Amino acid sequence: ERMISSDVQEEDQTVEYSLRPTSLKQYIGQQKVKENLSIFIEAAKMRNEPLDHVLLYGPPGLGKTTLASIIANELGVQFRSTSGPAIERAGDLAAILSSLEAGDVLFIDEIHRLPRTVEEVLYPAMEDFFLDIVIGSGPSARSVRLDLPPFTLVGATTRAGLLSAPLRDRFGVLSRLEFYQVEDLCSIVERTAEIFAAPIQKDAAIEIARRSRGTPRIANRLLKRVRDISQVKGESEISKETTQQALQMLQVDAAGLDHIDHKLLLNIMDGFNGGPVGLDTIAATIGEESQTIEDVYEPFLLQIGFIQRTPRGRMLTPKAYKHFKREVPKG
Ligand code: ADP
Repeated sequence: ERMISSDVQEEDQTVEYSLRPTSLKQYIGQQKVKENLSIFIEAAKMRNEPLDHVLLYGPPGLGKTTLASIIANELGVQFRSTSGPAIERAGDLAAILSSLEAGDVLFIDEIHRLPRTVEEVLYPAMEDFFLDIVIGSGPSARSVRLDLPPFTLVGATTRAGLLSAPLRDRFGVLSRLEFYQVEDLCSIVERTAEIFAAPIQKDAAIEIARRSRGTPRIANRLLKRVRDISQVKGESEISKETTQQALQMLQVDAAGLDHIDHKLLLNIMDGFNGGPVGLDTIAATIGEESQTIEDVYEPFLLQIGFIQRTPRGRMLTPKAYKHFKREVPKG
């Protein structure tokens, strides 16, 4: 298991629910996204209409699910949650949609993984709140129109580009979540520590924030591990020293990188003289899927400027060499 993977792991699931902020006010960071949403939510409430459909996109663990449930809270409506791969047939979608009440928020995580046939049923549902379902088969098959209550679809995906254009076009609001600044992550760590009733020193919280790859899910997970170690040591407050020790034990380096990042970067460094090298080649040589590299590992490495995308492939930057205390190759 990758300690700093931004995907949900089993142990996250139990805690994540209790850590989720429930209002926009409690939701830390993402200022721009919050400002926009709060205006749209306010306007929809004033007009007594459902909010426009919202697409949230960005790397895993940045708070898309959390934000979707906050939107429902702020609107004062029910929150229903499902995911692209869970909706296998058009009938599954029809069952979910027809059980909604007027104004409800339906959240579809990994919406890019909806089967094409389901996606096509979704278009008229999003646009005009009706479904055309086919009853029976063969010559006796007929299409029945089913009216739906107006609802708000909140979709989440790692990259907006993964969605087909017709689906993407049906969202009125597209919001991209960004990696969090250290200060914001620090506030998130302090907030979580308070919920855990585990006092933490400021510099320890900053240390965790710095090494969390801009991702709240990772920050919370690291805090949990650090807290365990601090507790065993009998500390009354989590200290910076213990935090550093714990993170070293967990093999998370000073920049928040782990063994997979190291493998990826060192592979480009040693195997391809720093690049450029194609994504598929990197994937094959380190034994990971291209899509996983592109959606999960690479965005943060791009963000901190260790990797660059060029038309001929990925290239390491001098910053990456510096991190490993290596000389930049000539040429
Ligand atoms: P995503 O759906 O993008 O993968 P989640 O919404 O599941 O991410 O968030 C992962 C965890 O991080 C949750 O436990 C949530 O409580 C926490 N979290 C995310 N964003 C924030 C935020 N802005 N403020 C506080 N906690 C957050």
